[in-house]
Amino acid sequence: MITETLLADLHSHTTASDGQLSPTDLVARALDKGVQMFAITDHDTLAGLDEAHQFNNSQAQPLKLIDGVEISTRWNSFDIHIVGLNVDRGNSVLADFLAHQRELREIRAMEIGERLAKAGIEGAYEGAKALAGDAALSRGHYARWMAENGHAVDMPSVFKRYLARGKTGYVPNNWGDMASAIEIIHQAGGLAVLAHPSGYKLSAKWLKRLVREYKEAGGDAMEVVLGQQTLDDRNNLIALSHQNQLLGSIGSDFHFPSNWIELGKNLFQPQGVDWVWQSQSWVNRV
Ligand code: AMP
Ligand code: MN
Ligand code: MN
Ligand code: MN
Repeated sequence: MITETLLADLHSHTTASDGQLSPTDLVARALDKGVQMFAITDHDTLAGLDEAHQFNNSQAQPLKLIDGVEISTRWNSFDIHIVGLNVDRGNSVLADFLAHQRELREIRAMEIGERLAKAGIEGAYEGAKALAGDAALSRGHYARWMAENGHAVDMPSVFKRYLARGKTGYVPNNWGDMASAIEIIHQAGGLAVLAHPSGYKLSAKWLKRLVREYKEAGGDAMEVVLGQQTLDDRNNLIALSHQNQLLGSIGSDFHFPSNWIELGKNLFQPQGVDWVWQSQSWVNRV
């Protein structure tokens, strides 16, 4: 049997969270890059999806647009992100949950601002807020404002110095646990995907533990192909997905145009992965 492979990118951000392209511009870029199956997965919000569909539906050859969200959770004091794919964007349980996440974000953002002010960096809250506009505040907005205002050379450096776990501006996270986020995603008809598992700076032993406990918490899938990763990393993630009977997913985690990360870039689909979109519960919903 010959099955057609669609260029899939199932992790991306718009200005509805800490991305820098509007939903319209992001979908236009995805089309331009040849992406055929595309998920928008903003942090703790679905606010970009309606506009994205509107634009996509106006195209002569629309792409397959998947409704997604990236939920922040807490596991052993780490910030762990769980992507929900193919969720029903009209689901009220999910909407209520995300409204609560937004409140948590606002509280945390104010506290980040206070911590930075104590460290001598004034106006960061207001600056980040201005960049965020209507979007819920993210550390990404803080990093952008701080880089643009000379507090470090670029966003990764801001994280390294100020915003990463344990640094001056880091607020110990108070997100809910993985099981609750997975449960909400399921209630909204979606599948849960552990985001960028190798991005949490965990030792091999802790990463194994995370994936195992994620599976035990009800997780369906994990990202195994990322826009930027070594072959060793990819193989390790695929092995972990097999060991834990998790489906695989693929995504760039695109936030803004740069030399490093691009929509659809490096997202080849290796053999031997059971992809999340091939599962029966996905097929039933699409
Ligand atoms: P938050 O959801 O508010 O905790 O912010 C997390 C977001 O910050 C991530 O989704 C990235 O967009 C960004 N981020 C995290 N770590 C880094 C880093 N080392 N360099 C640049 N951006 C980062
Ligand atoms: Mn982000
Ligand atoms: Mn993430
Ligand atoms: Mn992301």
